[in-house]
Amino acid sequence: MDMVDKNDSVLIIGGGTWGCSIALELARNGYSSVMVLDGEDVPSSIVAGNDLNKIMEEGIALNLKMIQTLHMRGIASMIYALQHGLMIRYINLIIITNIKKVVTADQFRNTMPLGVLTGDFKGWRGFAKPSGAGWVYARGAIIAAKQEAERLGVRFITGQHGLVTRLLYSDETEHGEREGMLKRRTLRGVISADGTIYRAHTTVLANGANADSLIDLKHQLRPTAWTLAHIQMTPSEAELYKDLPVLFNIEKGFFMEPSAETHELKICDEHPGYINPVYQELPPDNSLIREHADGKYKDGKNIVGSKPFTRRQIPLESEDRVRAFLKETMPHLETRPFSFARICWDADTVDRMPLIDWYTSDDGEDLSSRREAEGGVEGGRLLLAVGGSGHCFKTMPAIGQVILEFLEGRVDGKTRRAFRWRPGIAEGRNWWDVQGRWGAQGEVMDFNKVKGWTTIGET
Ligand SMILES: Cc1cc2nc3c(=O)[nH]c(=O)nc-3n(C[C@H](O)[C@H](O)[C@H](O)COP(=O)(O)OP(=O)(O)OC[C@H]3O[C@@H](n4cnc5c(N)ncnc54)[C@H](O)[C@@H]3O)c2cc1C
Repeated sequence: MDMVDKNDSVLIIGGGTWGCSIALELARNGYSSVMVLDGEDVPSSIVAGNDLNKIMEEGIALNLKMIQTLHMRGIASMIYALQHGLMIRYINLIIITNIKKVVTADQFRNTMPLGVLTGDFKGWRGFAKPSGAGWVYARGAIIAAKQEAERLGVRFITGQHGLVTRLLYSDETEHGEREGMLKRRTLRGVISADGTIYRAHTTVLANGANADSLIDLKHQLRPTAWTLAHIQMTPSEAELYKDLPVLFNIEKGFFMEPSAETHELKICDEHPGYINPVYQELPPDNSLIREHADGKYKDGKNIVGSKPFTRRQIPLESEDRVRAFLKETMPHLETRPFSFARICWDADTVDRMPLIDWYTSDDGEDLSSRREAEGGVEGGRLLLAVGGSGHCFKTMPAIGQVILEFLEGRVDGKTRRAFRWRPGIAEGRNWWDVQGRWGAQGEVMDFNKVKGWTTIGET
């Protein structure tokens, strides 16, 4: 396959966590024509990474590579505040050296300055990890990457001009009509909400949880949402909470130190996630319903996807979980009103590994083998860079490098196989699969069944 040349144009759809990292990496490596399209100003209000902070942890090999890269990179030292320590409840689930067991309430309380952890930690067990884990200033990382990319010549187009509504293929008119049926469809460009057509040698799809609104991804992505809330702290509380380790309970929730700028403390309740199911009605006597009464064909309907939406509130049940977590850890904050809350979407692959591969067709074939057999495609090409699966902010410092390796044909076989186009494993996908997550009732939840939402700032 032809490699991308540094003078070729590269268009990135989505200026989020990955889009900004990719843009920066390309610019740093001498790519002279890079443009990023986003439906909102960067960082957008729907971006998963537009957040006070995110957990960073060394663990699986992929993440280790990302962390090492983080330390080597310039932006890291400027904008990432790596703190120390991570606590997790189930010590026997993770095999790690250099950790200290934490079991009694006093041991838990002593991991932080006096007055921070005031709870009784009944039934808690865990460990303190003195290095290799911490947090990053997420929103700041995106802003810094964007600014540096712009300084190096990357163009960001946002709003209606940057909101991509459709991809334009080689056998289509600009109005979406098919002109014959080409066996090998190539990408001609992308169309934004204001009707502008953008064309590039290579387009990178990095629009996170919204990716399958532009491409049929054969159920490989499940948009899944999580919940977060903020509590406003006083300056003296913020001073006390400075330089804290992350406290993470895999069943109940987590928090990090408050924002240095605004003194807000972010708290997340842990759960397997919410979806907003998209159904395909089945006839009432359909045998599939009887065969799979509890799985895919739930409630007599066939789920065919999950559709993200924006909401700057959280379900009341989520508020209850946050407050239960506070009661056990910091009861002095249990009843404090939230100053902000929102749902936040990411794209779950079946195996929670990223989906990064060349996309050359919409006919559902295994594109990797087809590409190899045919020796590549001509014309505009599309690289998929999606599938954060709820844990890929930590890849931000390195994802750009991985994409660069894809573009330049240097990516190693192991990475290529792990991230490949893999519709086979999404066939008959169980949309309710918890995918190794705990918390709440131990189930993926349905937004349509939520009984009420918070009303922060509405009254
Ligand atoms: C509540 C929550 C907590 C998390 N905590 C952690 C954590 O502690 N540690 C960790 O490592 N990971 C964490 N994650 C996961 C991490 O944030 C994501 O994996 C990562 O940010 C995904 O990046 P992305 O670039 O794929 O998507 P995003 O960052 O969501 O970016 C997508 C971008 O595409 C844009 N876009 C969408 N549609 C279009 C369109 N049609 N046209 C143009 N632009 C478009 C959006 O505006 C957005 O800017 C968390 C996620 C959530 C939701």
